Amino acid sequence: MIFRDARERLVHFRGDFPAKPLDARRIAGLLDAPGCMRRQVIDAASVPMKDLAPLIGCREPRQSSYALQRGVRFEQSVTSNAMSFLLPLVREQLALDVREVREQDLSTVQVRTQFPDLDRDALTDHRVRTTRDSVAQMLAGDQRAINLLRHPYLVLTLGDMPTYLEPDLLAYAASGTLAPIEIKSFPCIDGIADPAKTAEAARQTAVYMVALCRLVENLGQPSSRIASQGLLVMTRDFTLEASGSLLDLRPQVRRLERVLANFPHVTQLAAQIPTAVSLPALPSRDTSQTERTAASAQAREAVGALPMRFGDGCTGCPLLDFCRGQAQREESVAQLGTQAANMCGDVSTVSHALALTAGTRTPTTAAEKAVAEELRRAAIAVQLAGAAA
Ligand code: SF4
Repeated sequence: MIFRDARERLVHFRGDFPAKPLDARRIAGLLDAPGCMRRQVIDAASVPMKDLAPLIGCREPRQSSYALQRGVRFEQSVTSNAMSFLLPLVREQLALDVREVREQDLSTVQVRTQFPDLDRDALTDHRVRTTRDSVAQMLAGDQRAINLLRHPYLVLTLGDMPTYLEPDLLAYAASGTLAPIEIKSFPCIDGIADPAKTAEAARQTAVYMVALCRLVENLGQPSSRIASQGLLVMTRDFTLEASGSLLDLRPQVRRLERVLANFPHVTQLAAQIPTAVSLPALPSRDTSQTERTAASAQAREAVGALPMRFGDGCTGCPLLDFCRGQAQREESVAQLGTQAANMCGDVSTVSHALALTAGTRTPTTAAEKAVAEELRRAAIAVQLAGAAA
């Protein structure tokens, strides 16, 4: 099969599977598994993980509809009444001297209501342009500028693909810096929030921060115009009242910048896809069991054909079950963890490493010699520990 360009090859890999643009959570996920070509190809092909994962036998990441509804209600309550719940947090936590609220809502629903004739591309253009103009006005020190911009639309390039990101809010005051605000409906109980959820929110907000940096740089402004912290708004205890906490985003932003800089160009990704494989159409509710089984087999073959880099970060990836199964079947040393895999170098299977330890295989390469020596020392340590016990 001849492809006109690399992007066409990615589209061919996706086949009849639906496409879904990447969001901040998905981009933040790259922090866990930097350098995994399988994940990068699937991301670059805009394949929705939440649909692909169960099709290839992974547990389905689900969020309860109750949690989703509660999230929507909480955001509505925080941003209602002229932001009366949010404003104290913006003033106290972000130290922004916002006296009166000048807000604008750029959410799809709001823009569609205002401009019902815009098609999807025109709607995207409008949101991106208006975000850019609003931020330019803020940074120019215009006293009439919007100071709370809801659902702005930021662009971040991944590889060579533009992705569109939608933070909950951007806050600004003429005397301060520009800061992202993320609204989450998980609780902050007695001033303490779930550390794992807070870390996830910080990573997601860091993605917005990087996109915001790009916009500010494009506007010819220094990145010092952006705060180094974002505001996380959570529910106070089990109520729908708002509680806020500052997120120091610098470490995540630094890591993310590295991951984005190293994200392969589409031509490098396309070169890793065997020509013959492509994903099937996503089975619907009416699909027969036979067709579903065939679709699952085709998807497993297509994903399995992409080179993977299994390691510790995979625990956060929706494809974990599939890749772990493959690592076990192939007896890969990667299933023992990233540290063990790094130590083994090009000794890639457990049986190979054990043969070197037992002396049934003579080490020839430098990696084999190092692994044989390391494992022999470890085996003696285990024996001595057993004798002393
Ligand atoms: S689980 Fe699989 S696809 Fe996800 S990062 Fe790990 S190896 Fe890559």
